[in-house]
Amino acid sequence: MRSTLFLVVSYTVLGDCMEVLRIGSSGPMVYLLQSVLKTLGFYQGAVDGLFGSGTYNAVKFFQSRFGLIADGIVGANTWNALMPYINGYTNYTVKRGDSIYKIAQKYSTTMNRIIAANPGINANLLNIGQKIIVPFGRIVRSDVPFSSDIVRMNLNALTKVYPFLTLGSMGESVRGKDLFYMRLGTGTQREVFYSAAIHANEWITAGVMLKFIENYSLAYVEYRRIGTIDIRNLFQTASIYIEPLCNPDGVDLVTGAIKLGSETYLSAQALANNYPNLPFPNGWKANIRGVDLNLQFPAGWEQAREIKFGQGYTKPGPRDYVGARPLNQPESLAMYEFTLAHDFRLILAYHTQGRVIYWQYQDYVPENSREIGELFARMTGYRLETTPFASGFAGYKDWFIQNYNRQGYTFEVGLGVNPLPLSQFNQIYRENEGVLVTAATV
Ligand SMILES: [Zn+2]
Repeated sequence: MRSTLFLVVSYTVLGDCMEVLRIGSSGPMVYLLQSVLKTLGFYQGAVDGLFGSGTYNAVKFFQSRFGLIADGIVGANTWNALMPYINGYTNYTVKRGDSIYKIAQKYSTTMNRIIAANPGINANLLNIGQKIIVPFGRIVRSDVPFSSDIVRMNLNALTKVYPFLTLGSMGESVRGKDLFYMRLGTGTQREVFYSAAIHANEWITAGVMLKFIENYSLAYVEYRRIGTIDIRNLFQTASIYIEPLCNPDGVDLVTGAIKLGSETYLSAQALANNYPNLPFPNGWKANIRGVDLNLQFPAGWEQAREIKFGQGYTKPGPRDYVGARPLNQPESLAMYEFTLAHDFRLILAYHTQGRVIYWQYQDYVPENSREIGELFARMTGYRLETTPFASGFAGYKDWFIQNYNRQGYTFEVGLGVNPLPLSQFNQIYRENEGVLVTAATV
């Protein structure tokens, strides 16, 4: 009875029902565990999402160093001990003789970061016993798959450490996952919207968005520029809205967060059996009901239907099925309604792959859209191209351009076969950071 009570308390502290991991476990949370243990110096092996003997020994090493029972099983207590290193902050109680400067030194962080994380704090008058948040290190990792759980944990940690960010939800996926958006900035002169991972096996783009949120916030806190753009100034004048994970259920299927053999996995697999030539689950782009969310928008939807049916995509499956009617899936409908409720001057839709930027819908040519597209092409090193006819309808970007006659761009980042390997993450991020800031100013 006592131990049960203790576990419940631990979970409450965690605020998150974390998966128990042990030898034989696999999936995104194992990647996360390995990545954190590696950063801390407890693990030297590959970050590969497979909990084997190397991971087991690293967990035991960590547990004994942190005064936990060294059983090699990652349960609530071990997760609790890992949380500060996953989330990049710790809850600190002020002690006698502390100052912001001393605390910053102790955690190898900056005074600016501590002050920003604790609005209203009086840096000259800390009280003994006072609880503060001390951010240290980074939150967004470049070596883990961006499953819905990892994205949610990252967004929550970012909001905690950078309380000037606004986290919201525009709806829920088929499986009830929040469709999160983050607002960067309070400005109303110019609002823009970036979306990513609407296609399941393009989940690497979710990480690109998260890392951008983190770098933008850090630049804000440290009074820095990104490129030539002053982030404090941009924050006051513009608002960047980001939906990093438009298709959480599909991404969970491809990343292995939905376990092999589970009910959800099996029903997706049954849909995939309609298309035996497509790899499963790696070829999966659709939402969990087998509808391609980026073929759901009311911009030439009938045309898209005709083209895709002609190609044989006549029923739910891993890709290219347009659905029974436009916007009949919660994920696409949420994006549509969120867009209508705002006044976005420009949108960016992030996909993989090809190192290409598409800028048009039909014969719409929004003002300056080619010039801005050429600027983005120069900044990224990607080609600016006209959308191929067969994929030129019913996408989010297509609808945005048609509905507003404003600039909308599809970015096909990286190169190779989807899902792109995480080894491309840092390069993709570097190529796109400048665009992500500049798009809020052009
Ligand atoms: Zn795509």
